[in-house]
Amino acid sequence: MIRLAIVSPCYNEEAVLEKSAERLTALLDELVGKGTISRNSFMLFVNDGSRDRTWTIIERLYRENKYVKGLDLTRNVGHQSAIMAGMLTAKDMADGVITIDADLQDDLNAIPKMLEEYEKGYDIVYGVKVLRQADPLLKRMTAQAFYRLQSKMGIESIFNHADFRFMSRKALQILSQYQERNLYLRGLIPMIGLPSTTVDDIISEREGGVSKYTFGKMLGLALDGITSFSIKPIYGIIYLGLIFLLIALCIGIYVLHALLAGTAVPGWASLILSIWVTGGFLMIAVGTVGLYIGKIYREVKHRPLYNVKTMLE
Ligand code: UDP
Ligand code: MG
Repeated sequence: MIRLAIVSPCYNEEAVLEKSAERLTALLDELVGKGTISRNSFMLFVNDGSRDRTWTIIERLYRENKYVKGLDLTRNVGHQSAIMAGMLTAKDMADGVITIDADLQDDLNAIPKMLEEYEKGYDIVYGVKVLRQADPLLKRMTAQAFYRLQSKMGIESIFNHADFRFMSRKALQILSQYQERNLYLRGLIPMIGLPSTTVDDIISEREGGVSKYTFGKMLGLALDGITSFSIKPIYGIIYLGLIFLLIALCIGIYVLHALLAGTAVPGWASLILSIWVTGGFLMIAVGTVGLYIGKIYREVKHRPLYNVKTMLE
């Protein structure tokens, strides 16, 4: 029987917290009753520096509800780091951890399915949004465009998956070896390499409160998602430089033609040519320096070279 931890990041969630705890309690009761999870399974609410009564509510839930645990962060560190804090804290107290947003927009029916997959031997189970009707159109479109851009950049990530997932203790142990600061879990977790699968997640409306993902936070996450995993943009600069030199060549031919035909204005040729030639060389130079920085950046991340699946001794 698995000891399950449900980790939920909360930032100014006073409007939904009680309701969420109630629904999760009913689910845990049911799973304990069926003998799927052990009696000492729990939910861990991570208070990500909320400015409202979120922590007071967590404290009260902790006193009244045997499943509830709480973790209070000193300040707002953002969704990704808050989830990481919760997972690393729960890791040594549970056999597996499910992360789910506090607003419970994700599908609770997916949780028993995730546990079934774990029993089958999967260490990571991703919740994949099949219907996003409840998400605003703009959000749906930008999110999906972003997932596509990511895969173009060669980043391995799960389409339409947003941090609603199950991870076994073994997977968490490996995740804790990744020490990077610019956290983008959706890109990092597939790198773990343990057996993984997906279950359907039907998104519903927020129970209350408003979205905590401001446009700025979303843009920040998207930029982290690309720049923490891909150095392709640097190659982009070099290619642009090469294109500039190509244009310079075309202009050179045109200038030569103008000189021979006697239609050239004095001074124009040297000026226009040097702009494109210098521009091209500058971009190639910047891109080359960028490549070295790209290598330094891979070194400083100190990511594990390999992760062990099994060792027979
Ligand atoms: N969240 C957090 N820290 C932040 C912003 C958000 O812990 O700085 C939490 C928030 O409380 C929620 C989850 O991250 O549990 C996802 O946020 P939200 O539901 O507002 O995003 P959306 O579903 O609109 O993308
Ligand atoms: Mg939400």
